[in-house]
Amino acid sequence: MMNGTIRVVTFFLVILLVSVVVTAQPSISPQFLSHYTIDVKIDFVTGTFTGSEDVTYWNTTGSALEQVVFRIYPNSQYLYGPGTLHVDAVHVQGAAVAAAPTGDHTVLPIDLPRPLPPQSRATIAVTFTGKLSRWSDGTPTVPSDYGIYAATAHTLTLASFYPILAAYTPGSGWDRTPVGPIGDAVTSDIANYDVTVTVPAGVVVVGSGERTGVTQSSAGVQYQFVGQLMRDFMLVAGDNFATRTEDAGNTRLTTYFRPNDHRAAATAIEDGTRAIAIYNKLFGACAYPKVDIVEVPLARAAGVEYPGLILVAASYCADPSTRFFSIIISHELAHQWWYAAVGNDVTAEPWLDEALATYSSVIYLEKTAGPRTSRAVLAEFREQYQRARATHPNLAVASPTYRFPNDATYSAIVYSGGACFLNAVRVAIGDSAFFAALSEYYRLFKFRRATAHDLLATFTHTCGCDLDKIYTAYLKPAVVTTP
Ligand SMILES: [Zn+2]
Repeated sequence: MMNGTIRVVTFFLVILLVSVVVTAQPSISPQFLSHYTIDVKIDFVTGTFTGSEDVTYWNTTGSALEQVVFRIYPNSQYLYGPGTLHVDAVHVQGAAVAAAPTGDHTVLPIDLPRPLPPQSRATIAVTFTGKLSRWSDGTPTVPSDYGIYAATAHTLTLASFYPILAAYTPGSGWDRTPVGPIGDAVTSDIANYDVTVTVPAGVVVVGSGERTGVTQSSAGVQYQFVGQLMRDFMLVAGDNFATRTEDAGNTRLTTYFRPNDHRAAATAIEDGTRAIAIYNKLFGACAYPKVDIVEVPLARAAGVEYPGLILVAASYCADPSTRFFSIIISHELAHQWWYAAVGNDVTAEPWLDEALATYSSVIYLEKTAGPRTSRAVLAEFREQYQRARATHPNLAVASPTYRFPNDATYSAIVYSGGACFLNAVRVAIGDSAFFAALSEYYRLFKFRRATAHDLLATFTHTCGCDLDKIYTAYLKPAVVTTP
């Protein structure tokens, strides 16, 4: 995502460096991908919904499992606002089982009736009820609410509207990390989706996957989506969208903006198609056949990324001629490569996707506005970064989100500093090795979760050189303190 409260040059996010053991996930085998069949009915007026999901979970952990863990993120007091996601019932292989949220109420462990051997599957059915955060006057009622799970006058945003399988990492198990007030929350693995959404007539639904059908019935309008190789599935419903569509390589880009913001929509399409073309060439082809750019009210964030769909804050759409608007679009679209396709732990190592997305937007400016512009942006980043590190010597680009005291520091060190780090690597090894390494990283880790070690090792291997000084300077805190 991108923090918007601080203006153009302030971005944010963070990480830590820490583990340097490589824990790359086993490569994806299509037959062992988990599958979600989701059916959700939305009451557009009240901002509530009911849903059911049938999840086929394949145990690819390598160990027998006695428990499968889901995450119900909207129950966090952070990021999602005062909305809720209540689990009504759970069935495993058709038999009812008891399940209750634990931790910060975003963790849902489900005990299996019998251990699930490796390479075996379990069918888990969950019914649930959701209530979105209500923005009655166009703004949130609590300060940490991004607006990603919110009901506003003309849009409903439904981030994490369904119980999603927690990420499992051999050695550390299921991800039960509490949601914090800074950065992003969802670390998850690739799955396939069939999603049906019912809304009242006149409401349009946009989803992460490809829309495969729209049917009318007495119950309303039914939208059907299919999502292949998706790390998450986002939905937005709105009753006041104008749309534009254009192809960028093999990816169809569509904007859903308020009719009055047609200039922003036109700029988003132009920046979006150019950004995708540049990234296709430099990193490898976009993994998704369609990406939607959707305007919604947001707070604290200028944009937020999801697989196949990005959000742009309505407050930035009034004047799309600013450089920052192009940065929002090119940053969020870069997350289709860094986050959606190549996954990472967004809490422990948030810099992995945020530094890459931020630096991708610098590359976008370099290729479109010219090197003078990109150099000027990098100079601003460097200043923000250096000031923040001087104030917080216990933090570095690779610090985890929970270490950061606020959005501004997170942005200055993880986003701005992360982009400076990548630029330093590029200067040290040259364009040819730098872009070869990013392409290789994308090729190797697409549809998997990568770690910092994976990215750094790819740079080192590609250049055949020692980059430890650069790694240490940017990624390690000058002062180490215990948490
Ligand atoms: Zn981002």
